[in-house]
Amino acid sequence: MRVAVYPGSFDPVTNGHIDILEKTSKIFDRIVIAVVHNVTKNALFSLDERVELIRESTKHLNNIEVECFSGLLTDYIREKKACAIIRGLRTMTDFEYEMHMSMMNKRLMPEVDTIFIMSDSNYIFVSSSGVKEAAMLGGDVSTLVPAAVKKGLQEKLKQFKQK
Ligand code: ADP
Repeated sequence: MRVAVYPGSFDPVTNGHIDILEKTSKIFDRIVIAVVHNVTKNALFSLDERVELIRESTKHLNNIEVECFSGLLTDYIREKKACAIIRGLRTMTDFEYEMHMSMMNKRLMPEVDTIFIMSDSNYIFVSSSGVKEAAMLGGDVSTLVPAAVKKGLQEKLKQFKQK
């Protein structure tokens, strides 16, 4: 069984992430999405909310599992008996960062490779931070995120307005 782990902040999951998942779910038998608590990023959605939004948005894929994760990625990969890490690539900026990460992980786990996937050109410019910014200013993000995420963003906007 070929298992891959797709780690990320997913704050929130976008159509770019979903595109990567649709592509990789055909390559691997099982994909574990590891929602990471990133202390350097100011999260809009809680970990539980992010997990729920991904579950809701990946119902059409039958080999996806979603979990929260904190700690060392290498330990998690071994626990899941995964053979690969999935990461998405958009720009050269992504490449630079991802290259360092993958080399570090390769040094720590020589038996595991990072598989890079480019999303469809429609989603190359889509980022969670861009989506959050647009949505919080009242922009229409319907074509950038799954329906559940659009609803979640609208609820957050409502909460902010009430404060
Ligand atoms: P992280 O904090 O780990 O970068 P993200 O949720 O922002 O978490 O991204 C997780 C992974 O998905 C990263 O490899 C990122 O490059 C990739 N990714 C995010 N958005 C897109 C997109 N629109 N197209 C392709 N890959 C993407």
